[in-house]
Amino acid sequence: MEPREYEYSSNILDGRIVLITGASDGIGRALALHAATLGAQVVLHGRNTKKLEDVYDAVLAVEGARRPSIAVMDLAVADGDAYRSLAESLTQEFGRLDGLVHNASILGERYAIEQYDGALWQQVMHVNLTAAFAMTQVCLPLLKLAEDPSIVFTSSGVGRTGKAFWGAYAVSKFGTEGLSQVLAEEHRHSSLRVNCINPGPTRTGMRLAAYPAENRDELKRPEDILAAYVYLLGPDSRGVTAGSFDAQ
Ligand code: NAP
Repeated sequence: MEPREYEYSSNILDGRIVLITGASDGIGRALALHAATLGAQVVLHGRNTKKLEDVYDAVLAVEGARRPSIAVMDLAVADGDAYRSLAESLTQEFGRLDGLVHNASILGERYAIEQYDGALWQQVMHVNLTAAFAMTQVCLPLLKLAEDPSIVFTSSGVGRTGKAFWGAYAVSKFGTEGLSQVLAEEHRHSSLRVNCINPGPTRTGMRLAAYPAENRDELKRPEDILAAYVYLLGPDSRGVTAGSFDAQ
């Protein structure tokens, strides 16, 4: 079975504490809502309090959903103290973490490497890759306290095969695949599994920015591509690690 074809029960994530970065919009928002519907206790991370509060309200509107938590932190500027303080709050509130989904990213601009702005390069690499490294580091102790922990990184097609003009975004996604593999191998003999998902073309603001002229109606919606995420976060993927999967 491919993770994208996974079929699951309506409480498959019951009681799992799952932190999702970039949960204020797009795929992260849809995953947060769906995971809450499946019984997870979701921690909504993002940089925009108002948008996160909207997601919070949407989760609360789901019948039977656990009350989510909000973690506001701008990955572009967060320092070590901010990460430590987030981990400390999670420790106090939950005492463990069952799932960590690295979903937040920025696209940057579509330029040839020859013209790519150096400051923008650093910003994209920082938000998309270095921030996931920093978040992973502070969350690892909490993940190790869980019985069946899972980390999911978000890759892209351009993070597996280089494509002209995708610049720092593509390179950051190659790095994400690498970070995921290195981490997976370091924990191969533990219960922690680490995998990557490539969402594929999905109807979000980022996709619109990358392909402004395409017909959006032909794209999958974020809520249509979540089976692989549920599989990797839930109990049926125990022992599955160092993989890179397509959500579509
Ligand atoms: P999106 O709608 O633009 O959502 C991106 C999320 O990341 C938003 O919640 C955004 O917050 C957050 N974010 C961006 N910069 C941040 C920062 N500095 N600090 C904290 N949060 C930040 O994009 P998406 O399409 O859902 O993308 C989700 C993931 O899928 C990304 O990793 C993307 O690379 C990957 N992906 C998407 C596609 C696709 O077709 N959509 C294809 C392949 C891979 P705000 O709401 O505040 O902006």
